[in-house]
Amino acid sequence: MGTEFWVVAEHRGGQLRRPTLEALGAARQVAQAAGGKTAAVVLGKNAGNLAAELGKHGAARVLWVDNDNLDVYSSGGYTHALAELARAQKPDAIVFAASAQTRDLAPRLAARLDTGLLPDCIEMNWDASDGRILAKRFVNSGKALATVKARGTPALLTTRPKAFAIASDTGGTADVVRCDISIDASHCFGKVKQYEQPAAAKVELTEADIIVSGGRGLKGPAEFAILDELAAVLGAAVGASRAAVDAGWREHAAQVGQTGKVVTPKLYIACGISGAIQHLVGMTNSKVIVAINKDADAPLMKLADYAVVADLFLFVPALTAELKRSQK
Ligand SMILES: Cc1cc2nc3c(=O)[nH]c(=O)nc-3n(C[C@H](O)[C@H](O)[C@H](O)COP(=O)(O)OP(=O)(O)OC[C@H]3O[C@@H](n4cnc5c(N)ncnc54)[C@H](O)[C@@H]3O)c2cc1C
Repeated sequence: MGTEFWVVAEHRGGQLRRPTLEALGAARQVAQAAGGKTAAVVLGKNAGNLAAELGKHGAARVLWVDNDNLDVYSSGGYTHALAELARAQKPDAIVFAASAQTRDLAPRLAARLDTGLLPDCIEMNWDASDGRILAKRFVNSGKALATVKARGTPALLTTRPKAFAIASDTGGTADVVRCDISIDASHCFGKVKQYEQPAAAKVELTEADIIVSGGRGLKGPAEFAILDELAAVLGAAVGASRAAVDAGWREHAAQVGQTGKVVTPKLYIACGISGAIQHLVGMTNSKVIVAINKDADAPLMKLADYAVVADLFLFVPALTAELKRSQK
């Protein structure tokens, strides 16, 4: 078989997660440059029905490990299944969309296969001179952009959500290959017991095009209602600074920053957030940044594309009302 790049599909409740299709777009473009093909790997008992969508978006093959023990994510089970599959089929690269799950899985797999891992890539290219993948990723808390070369075979990479376009619909179909991997309950340590949907996260933060985020300037949990209202009008997700999360005003799933989530929306509206470096790390690559703050000298006001010097309790409701009016 020629060059083949794999994308490991992440799915929940019978649905593919959107960043998987972005990872597929990235992998397909590099595979084409390398004169190779893209395959998707699907783990789980009833997951074979995802093949049609993966085929449409450019996977020439879908390798389906159909096993009861893979129905729910486990660190041990998924690592074992992927390692066995990779050893048998020898792909050139394995690409994952960066997520809480793959932050656990990809390093384990890299260690098991004794290969390198490039996490959170925002660009991927093919270097024909030595037949390796060149990727770009932020380092030093987002202050520098490094161009790095994948080492080891297979090369392992994760793609940052929203950094790549979703693979376009080619109308193609994938050959579904059922793969028999011997796996039993003893492999499946670190099993997820249940997924909880945070009440406030109607739109998943890392997948949102627009984020309205609040900090200590909000003064309390009830006051976040004005951000919820603005977010509802914009179809946005609501994020928070660590100060707001530590105060118990918002759940940890909403935290943006070094110890929270890294987000790259088209529009990030920061309300009452000063812009400490640990917060900036999580949102600095947003396309357009709006900061609303009483203090014109707050660090985030310097970084913002639009810095609004205002009391957020006056400005945000007025903005929401104006947007509602314009949508009528
Ligand atoms: C190891 C480590 C990891 C960390 N990880 C994170 C992280 O992941 N994410 C994160 O966010 N932080 C993180 N922090 C904390 C970070 O250093 C800051 O303390 C935090 O980001 C501050 O949150 P804030 O901007 O909401 O609060 P503040 O810095 O207190 O800022 C509040 C802002 O609100 C403005 N304001 C007040 N009232 C109004 C009003 N009525 N209208 C408009 N503006 C108003 C003020 O002018 C001020 O600029 C971390 C810190 C450490 C040490």
